[in-house]
Amino acid sequence: MYTEPSAQADSRDGHDSGPTAHQVRITERGSFAYASCDCGWFAPGRRSRDRARRDAAEHLAGPPQD
Ligand SMILES: [Zn+2]
Repeated sequence: MYTEPSAQADSRDGHDSGPTAHQVRITERGSFAYASCDCGWFAPGRRSRDRARRDAAEHLAGPPQD
């Protein structure tokens, strides 16, 4: 998945399990785009990448109370 040889190895100390890191990305599939996050969250497919970005921003701003 995420293989970056010379990126900062921030898990070298083994304290990688702090608060959930929200790393949102936009994935495009055909004419749809959807946002998904490292925390497991993902948004439904959108026809516009802009909308998917907004989903991502909303997620980062405030995750829905579940
Ligand atoms: Zn998240």
